Amino acid sequence: MKQELELYIHIPFCVRKCNYCDFLSFPQPTDVHGRYVTQLLREIRAAAPDCREMIVRSVFIGGGTPSLIGESLIEELMATVRSCYRMAEDAEVTIECNPGSTLRHKFAAYRRAGINRLSIGLQSADNAELKMLGRVHSFEEFLKSYQNARMEGFKNINVDLINCIPMQSLKTWKKTLRTVLMLKPEHVSVYNLIIEEGTPFYQMQEEGLLMMPSEEEQAEIDTFTKEYLARQGYHRYEISNWAREGLECRHNSGYWTGVPYLGFGLGAASYFDRKRWNNTSDLSEYMDFDFVGDRSGTVRKDVRELSREEQIEEFMFLGLRMTKGISSSSFLARFGQHLDSVYGKILDKDIISGLIESCDGRYRLTERGMDVSNVVLSGFLLSKPEEG
Ligand code: SF4
Repeated sequence: MKQELELYIHIPFCVRKCNYCDFLSFPQPTDVHGRYVTQLLREIRAAAPDCREMIVRSVFIGGGTPSLIGESLIEELMATVRSCYRMAEDAEVTIECNPGSTLRHKFAAYRRAGINRLSIGLQSADNAELKMLGRVHSFEEFLKSYQNARMEGFKNINVDLINCIPMQSLKTWKKTLRTVLMLKPEHVSVYNLIIEEGTPFYQMQEEGLLMMPSEEEQAEIDTFTKEYLARQGYHRYEISNWAREGLECRHNSGYWTGVPYLGFGLGAASYFDRKRWNNTSDLSEYMDFDFVGDRSGTVRKDVRELSREEQIEEFMFLGLRMTKGISSSSFLARFGQHLDSVYGKILDKDIISGLIESCDGRYRLTERGMDVSNVVLSGFLLSKPEEG
C-alpha cells in the first residue's frame, strides 16, 4: 500500500488585517496574486519527484483568504496538483473562504477544480462583534455565501467561529451558535479568542481598552457550546472541532495522527521523511527563489529531523488533542516500547486528577482535561520521558 500524504497550500493575502490576527497574511495588489501562484506552481512541481510512491489523501488551501484570489488561479493550482501527484479517489480537498470575497461563480469554479469541502470563516453572527473583530464582512454576506455554496452543490461545509471575544455575552454567543446550527453545516470549529502579541487587540488590552467576558462568563460560554453542539448531533472529535458523524476533517486529523504533509507557499510548515521545516516567511525571498533552475538554495528553513523523544512527545501531544485519544498498542507498535514505561507516572497523576481517563488500552482527555488542555498537554511536551 502506498504511503499517504497530505498537501497544504498557503495563500497569504487578505483584504485587510483583522484586529486579532497574527497569521502570516497581508493585503497585496492583484498582480502579486498571479505572480505568487506562479511560484507556488513551480514549488508544487519541484517537490513531486520525492512523492512518487505516495498517495495524496487530502489537500487544504488555506490562508490568509484563498477565496480572495481569482478562481482561475485556484483551478490552475488544483490542475497542477492533480498532474504531479497521485490523488486518492476519495481525497478531501478543502478551500478556506471569506464571506466578503466569495461569489457564486467562484464556488462553481471550485467544484470544477475538484474541491469538495469549504471552510467558511464567519467567526460571529453578530454584526457588532464582527466589526469589533475587524472582519470585512457582515453576517448577511456570510448567509449569501453559504446559500450560494449549497446551490453549487457543496455538501461538506465547515463554519469557523470564535468565542470569548470582547463585549461578547452568553446571550450573543447563544444567538450566534443557534443561528449557525440552523443552517446545518457538516462541521463547526470553535476557537476561544487568544490575544496575540503584535495585534491591535494586544495593544488595546495593554491600554485597558478591551472589555473581555469575565472568567465566569467564559466558562458559561464554553459549557453552552459543548452542550448545545452535542444536543444538535455534532460530536466533538478534537478540542476545538465538532462534526456530524463521518464528516470530521480528514486533513486536520492527519496532522494529529502523524500523517506526513508537504506545505507549499509562504511560511508553510511541512512534516516529511521524519523532518519538520517551515518555508521562509519573507515574501521577496519566496518570490525570487529559483524552483526550476539549479535550486542551490532553499526556501525551507529550520529543517530538522525529529529525535526519538520528540516523536514520542508529538505522538502524545497531538493524539491527545483528539477525543478518541491515543492507544497504548499503537504506541508500542510505533516505538517498540510500552506507553506505561515511558509516561506511566504522568498518566497516573493526570488520571488521579481527573484530567485523563483510560479505557481498553486507550487514554483520552476528560471534559475537564479538555478545558485545561494546554496545561495537560504541555506536561507531555516538556517532560523528559522516563527510562523504560
Ligand atoms: S481573514 Fe483570517 S487570515 Fe486574514 S486577517 Fe482576518 S483572521 Fe487573519
